[in-house]
Amino acid sequence: MNGKYIIGIDLGGTKISGAISTFDGKIIYKKSIDTLSSQGPERVTGRILGHIKHLIEYVKADKDEVSGIGIASPGPLNIEEGVIVETPNLPFRNYPLIKTVERETGIKAYLENDANAAALGELWFGAGRGSKNFIYMTVSTGIGGGIVINGDIYHGHTGNAGEFGHMTVEPHGPRCNCGNYGCLEVMSSGTAIARIANERLKAGEDSLLRNCEKVTSKEVFEYASKGDKLSCEVVDYTMNYLGIGTANLVNAFDPELIIIGGGVSKAGDALFSRVKNVVSKRCFEIMAKSVKIIPPGLSTDAG
Ligand SMILES: [Zn+2]
Repeated sequence: MNGKYIIGIDLGGTKISGAISTFDGKIIYKKSIDTLSSQGPERVTGRILGHIKHLIEYVKADKDEVSGIGIASPGPLNIEEGVIVETPNLPFRNYPLIKTVERETGIKAYLENDANAAALGELWFGAGRGSKNFIYMTVSTGIGGGIVINGDIYHGHTGNAGEFGHMTVEPHGPRCNCGNYGCLEVMSSGTAIARIANERLKAGEDSLLRNCEKVTSKEVFEYASKGDKLSCEVVDYTMNYLGIGTANLVNAFDPELIIIGGGVSKAGDALFSRVKNVVSKRCFEIMAKSVKIIPPGLSTDAG
């Protein structure tokens, strides 16, 4: 590789975040745009390509000076072929994103699972430094995860290990975007928190949330901290399921750390205290006492 720059694109259900950096990891410029997922695969790909072009032009670089584009996407993925297999919060189904990006930009591109990329970031630069066995979970529009075992990412047989968002935590729960019912993601993601609060408001329940123009998970946590009854109940309900999912991971992996990132983790103690409480009730004491459930060391983008 002989370029001066590398481009990183983080493809999320709500935002496409892009950054252009030097080879030693120094970010020169970064910007996020809306994904507008409902517009379909071609339009979203067009937005990704437009954003890549913008990043290059903004720093007045020549595209020959860019040696690679890394695209982090929620899974499942076929990393070797550069194909997004099926991603519940994005419009791609068996979509050859990497071939398309390489053809349109003339720059070599790579695909990786977004949560694995974040887990590696935590291992190398963040809260996972010095730890050999930990779990990274991101809670935002959806829920994803990365598993670090013996200081390396555990990929699983098909390369898709760590899809914690689609563990069943409520067999009789609502249908998830993946087609299954009662997945962790449909019970406790940012999207789920907003959905449940809005359903109860629509049913006519009284709440200070009625003062908000739009109710997202952020408002629900904010009003829960002010003692709003509906908000408190939604936070208790959804965080209980996040606790159940986390407890399952503790029992399965006995990790040193569980790092919870993503936009919803910015709720802070309102999330962490509830999750820890469920873990202490549902896990074997020796593991529950030893595992540290903590926020990431690196900044996490809202989802
Ligand atoms: Zn699911």
